[in-house]
Parts: sequence; C-alpha cells; structure tokens
Amino acid sequence: MKNRKLLMIPGPVEFTPAVLRAMGMPTTSHVAANFIEIYGQVLEDMRRVFVSPSGQPFVVPGTGTLAMEMAAANVVEAGDKALVVNTGYFSDRFAKILERHGAIVTHCHAKVVGDAPPIHEVEAALEAIRPKVMTITHVDTSTGVAANVRELAALGRKYHALVIVDGVCATAGEEMRQEDWGIDMALTASQKAIGVPPGLALVVAGPRAMDAFRKRSRPVGSVYSDWTEWLPIMQAYEGRKPGYFATPAVNLIWALNVSLKEILVEGMDARFARHRSLSAAFKAGIEAIGLRQLPVRPDVQASTLTAIYYPDGVDKNLVKLVDDAGVLIAGGLHPALREKYFRVGHMGAVTAGDIVATVAAIESALVKAGYRFEKGAGVAAVQRSL
Ligand code: PMP
Repeated sequence: MKNRKLLMIPGPVEFTPAVLRAMGMPTTSHVAANFIEIYGQVLEDMRRVFVSPSGQPFVVPGTGTLAMEMAAANVVEAGDKALVVNTGYFSDRFAKILERHGAIVTHCHAKVVGDAPPIHEVEAALEAIRPKVMTITHVDTSTGVAANVRELAALGRKYHALVIVDGVCATAGEEMRQEDWGIDMALTASQKAIGVPPGLALVVAGPRAMDAFRKRSRPVGSVYSDWTEWLPIMQAYEGRKPGYFATPAVNLIWALNVSLKEILVEGMDARFARHRSLSAAFKAGIEAIGLRQLPVRPDVQASTLTAIYYPDGVDKNLVKLVDDAGVLIAGGLHPALREKYFRVGHMGAVTAGDIVATVAAIESALVKAGYRFEKGAGVAAVQRSL
C-alpha cells in the first residue's frame, strides 16, 4: 500500500519529486552564496514564466491573499476608484482588500453564478467610472469560471486603468502573457500551477505599476507589503548580493527554483496546451456520464479546474466516497451554491494518468451513491479525448 491519495483539489496540488526533494534539503543561511544564486535565478525565471520581460518580480513569504494585498497596498491610495470584474468568491475578496486600502470599489458582476460579465458591460463601467485600478480574477476557484483576460486587459488599458490579474488559480496553467496582453500586475501563489507547496506570494509588476507606486503621495498602509522595503531586497538578490528585510522562505525558494526550471523546460506554449488538453479530457469524461458543469458555457470554463453539479439524488457525501476511492477532491465554495457542486483541480504536474484515475474514482463513488449511468463511459471518453 502506498498509503497516500491522489491530490486533485484546486490547490495545493501534486508536486514533482524534485520539488519535494528541494523542500527537504538542509536549510541554509538566507545570505549563503549558493542561496543568493538560487534566489537570483528565481527572480529571472519569474519574468519568463509570467512572460513579462520588463516586469519587477516580488517573491515574498506568504500566500495568494498576501499577493493580492501587496498589489492593492502599493498602488491604491485612499479615494482611488477601482473596478472589480467579479466572477465569484475571490473577486469579492479582492474588493474587500481594495476597500481596506481606501479604494472606492465598483463591481461588474455576471448575471448568474457560473458566468463572466459581458465585455460591453465592463467597457460601460470603465467609461463611466474611469477607475485607477481594474482587477480581474483569471480563474475564480470557487466557480471554475475563467475570465477573458486578454480582452479585458486590453479594455482596461484603453481606459487607462492599471490592470491587475489575480492568477492564483491560473498562472503557469492558463495562457497568460503579461507584457503582450498589457497586464500591469500579475500575481499568484506557490501552491497551484506554479507547482510548489503553499507559502509564497508571487507578484510581477510592470513599469506602469511601478510608476504608480513611485508617484504615491502617502506611505503604503502596511509595512510587510510595502515595496519600499521589498524592492531593494529583490534588486540585491537579482544582482547576486544578500539583502534582508524579512527572512526569505529558504526551502520554498529552493523548491520554486526547481519548479520554474521544470516549467521553462516544458515551455510555456506546451504547458498551456497540456493544461487545455487534460482539462478537455476530464470534462469529456464527466459529461459522458451525464454530469453538468457549473460554468455556463465552454468559453468561460477554466483549464485548471472543473466545477461540477452533483447529479439528482447525489449530495456532498460524494466527496467522501471519492476520497474512499483514493482521490481527494473539493466540495463547493461559492456561498450561493456550496452544497450543490464539487470541484476537481487539474493543474501543475498533473498527468493523463491522474485524469483517468480521477474519473474512475468519481465513477466508483457515483455507483456507491446510487446514481445510474453506464459505468466506464467516463473513462472511455477520457481515453478518446486523450
Ligand atoms: N485568488 C484565487 C483565485 C484563489 O484561488 C485563491 C486560493 N484558493 C486565492 C486568491 C487566495 O490564495 P491563498 O489561499 O493562497 O491566500
């Protein structure tokens, strides 16, 4: 018995053996020569993974929420207007953070949970409000809805808003080309498609975001998030010199160096394509056994996770039955529908074998739950799609 389960929640995800080995290395000094080199490489590779050649990376101990806080804290001042393109739970979180830093927030909501707001409504809001900042949740992990970041970012730019993308459930999985797409700030956390255990907040700020930060009239309202503290540290390590503001997460940065190199060896285009094709295979599998997705149309379905309604007669106990079959999946998260759906993450190091195993486990659990369907049809659809 391997005595472990396949982890298929929308983060943390399964990590590669090399990443986990880096986590288990003897921890060195954060100013040791070999660690300085690793941190420097990480900062350089971040630009390549975010496809942001002129971006300024920040790699800081924390989580995705800290990355969001850092984004808001450094460019927003009291009274600034912000537009939140709202696709669910994590868009609401961004609004809360922006408001805490003094922004006046307007939401552009989808009409129903599971959809994204129509592009013309976002444009109308931008035109009416002329916000300083616009936030987009690339993939809302609560609903599995993906926003059309490329189109939205272009619109934000047209109206001179600083475009901030929450890529916590997307970066290094969903296609995102920060500089080409005009994204001023992209942020994520380590534990999802980036492929490193939880504990790092990752932000890449483009030149316009750094400019907005430099032109602030008041100090940043959080010492830990303040780029005034962190920028010299990032510049020091990238210049292969030590620096100290708050202790770097040494082993996590070592693991990030391994993961970013694995990502770049795969290549960004190939990685985006792998996420698309494994997601399509998983979705084909669950649809073949009659299950329905929460996102209302294929063009708003994420590649990094799938949100699926329980079929009639089946309830949230299904998550436990899938766990009994050896695969960990997640229940619902969006408050409006929490008890009605479940979520499966498929990002980072995920393989075709993981997709087959997960659909097989869901089929076994559905049989136990009393749902009637053609057993094996899901797995067969996955195989055909692959
Ligand atoms: N944004 C999105 C889209 C997320 O999925 C998450 C975490 N699930 C967060 C923000 C917050 O990240 P963390 O839990 O690492 O603070």
